[in-house]
Amino acid sequence: MNGNGGMLLVVSAPSGCGKSTIVNRVMQILPRLVFSVSHTTRLPRSGETDGVHYHFVDKATFAAIQDQQPTGFLEWAEVHDHKYGTSVDEINRHRQEGMDVILDIDVQGAAQVRQRANPVSVFIAPPSFAELERRLRSRKTENEATIRVRLANARKEMACADVYDYLVVNDRLEDAVESLKSIIIAERCRRRRLSDGQDADWGA
Ligand code: 5GP
Repeated sequence: MNGNGGMLLVVSAPSGCGKSTIVNRVMQILPRLVFSVSHTTRLPRSGETDGVHYHFVDKATFAAIQDQQPTGFLEWAEVHDHKYGTSVDEINRHRQEGMDVILDIDVQGAAQVRQRANPVSVFIAPPSFAELERRLRSRKTENEATIRVRLANARKEMACADVYDYLVVNDRLEDAVESLKSIIIAERCRRRRLSDGQDADWGA
């Protein structure tokens, strides 16, 4: 465990890799694990609840939190034309309660968290691009143009996988769940992690 309480676990993946499903399954299995609810300027999709999946805010509210440095957002990024950010307050509250916090964030956000804190980072990859394309199409939630953009973004995101601590390939869902669970358990048993002193600048 880090000096400042629970650990930060950053999980990134191109869209369509099954990241949410894997994260949700692991959260059902392991205790002392909490999901960091991000702020976003995008509109809720059907089935999404404010405060559970995201804090849905307008652009002005998002900008106001951005201005509260260093205690506003731990990181923020623009993804697929919408802004997303992780609130420092929310992270601190969970960690002080000894909870490990999962941040489901993109590669740009992950890079910022690495600069300001000492997260454990996991990249979830599809078995192949052909399989990713098949999965994106089978969801039938996006139109052709959006699928093209997501596939192009996926190639850029995959190029960042090397800087993550762990790589989980989601070929079989059960195996990917088992891998993420094992990573968290192993990290909890780790005797020593790099100093977490950098967290001090965001008020931990
Ligand atoms: P979606 O809109 O499909 O829920 O998420 C789109 C992308 O935004 C996903 O890759 C997700 O990981 C990323 N994302 C969600 N919340 C945050 C956040 O707080 N910060 C950053 N940098 N990315 C986020």
